[in-house]
Amino acid sequence: MRVQAIVDIDNTLWDFAPILYKKLKLLNPSVPPPEKWDRWDFFKDYVSVSDFYRVIEEIHKRQDEYGVYPEAKDFLLGIKKLGYFVVIASHRTKESELPTLKWLKKHELIFDELHLSYDKSILFEISSVVIDDSPFVLEKAKASGLLALGLEHPWNRQNNFLLFKNLMEILSFIEKQRKF
Ligand SMILES: [Mg+2]
Repeated sequence: MRVQAIVDIDNTLWDFAPILYKKLKLLNPSVPPPEKWDRWDFFKDYVSVSDFYRVIEEIHKRQDEYGVYPEAKDFLLGIKKLGYFVVIASHRTKESELPTLKWLKKHELIFDELHLSYDKSILFEISSVVIDDSPFVLEKAKASGLLALGLEHPWNRQNNFLLFKNLMEILSFIEKQRKF
């Protein structure tokens, strides 16, 4: 049986928050900067839910124009070397599939499968590790008995998750777990 790892995109493989901030500020100049986003739904005090998701989709549709975290490529290679089947999973529409694939190729990010949907937890049953920044995804993954890890951000800090400063720290944590 394959051992599957689920890897998120936004704020996991690339620095999504500053771009989102720039776009939200155009809608409402009083939107605080990402270091103050201490709740997942911080935006609700500043922009409408529909505007928020529209802006996110605009970014996703131009995904291929953006960069990645410097360790993203080696991180995915490392996960692969540990024997995982790597599913890159992101909450985004089918319309952003092509720019997402272009972006993955451009930055030489290796993976076995790309999963775009609004509920990645449907993958949990056949997975053992989840790497994500969303407190909801991490909570659900933990409750389902998966190893749930993420990069530390202001919006997930308060929840007692296993959080790390960078992707290589996450990789070495997984490496150590696999030895036992
Ligand atoms: Mg994310």
